[in-house]
Amino acid sequence: MNGLLPCLVIMQFIDTFRHQGLRRNLVIELEKKGISDQRILAAIGKIPRHVFFENALISHAYQDKAFPIGEGQTISQPFTVARQTELLELKPKHKVLEIGTGSGYQCSVLMELGATVYTIEYQPKLFHRTKQILPKMGYEPNFFLGDGSKGLPNFAPFDRILVTAGAPAIPQPLIDQLKPGGILVIPSGNNAKQEMFKISKGMDSQIFEEKFGDFSFVPLKGSFGWS
Ligand code: SAM
Repeated sequence: MNGLLPCLVIMQFIDTFRHQGLRRNLVIELEKKGISDQRILAAIGKIPRHVFFENALISHAYQDKAFPIGEGQTISQPFTVARQTELLELKPKHKVLEIGTGSGYQCSVLMELGATVYTIEYQPKLFHRTKQILPKMGYEPNFFLGDGSKGLPNFAPFDRILVTAGAPAIPQPLIDQLKPGGILVIPSGNNAKQEMFKISKGMDSQIFEEKFGDFSFVPLKGSFGWS
């Protein structure tokens, strides 16, 4: 059995024609659901999502669904990843803070779009696993383990901040850590359902708030999350 494990790990990284075909279908499905940014669709068409899955679930990797990644957490639904990324209005070289590294899939989408990513994860096991996998795929973000609900004050300010877990309210430290002209995308609501908020900071530091429909995320933990 021990000899088999490295083989299983290597097989997970192989991107077959079947995977590529399933990915093309996923991109078509996302376009039909209203995702129109071609750069984001191209990133989703390129990144092998199955690599981020536990072996037992790999055959589900190209469904437009969230799936368990261990520790009670999930890899976000591709539509949600695409929608949050669209709302960020990302430009190449933007300095982005992602809160909730999880599997690393969303992080790889941000990096495909040319962002410099600072990503923070609360769960040590996920942090260590993803810190191993992403560089093997060619993605080298700045990894942090800890409570991202407080942001990363030592590395602020950020052009963009993306929260991939549901918050009870918008954490003020995240607004404070946005550059003027910056955007924060964060789901906020109760434990079962959240609204997607886009918080924009004007060049004069005035704050504008917009909402973009209902989503369902795992809870944001920590000081400004659910305890
Ligand atoms: N972006 C992830 C992906 O592509 O797989 C989504 C992962 S999941 C929906 C949300 C993640 O947020 C989980 O891994 C969870 O452990 C993490 N999380 C929850 N509260 C956090 C906090 N205060 N700081 C950092 N990460 C947190």
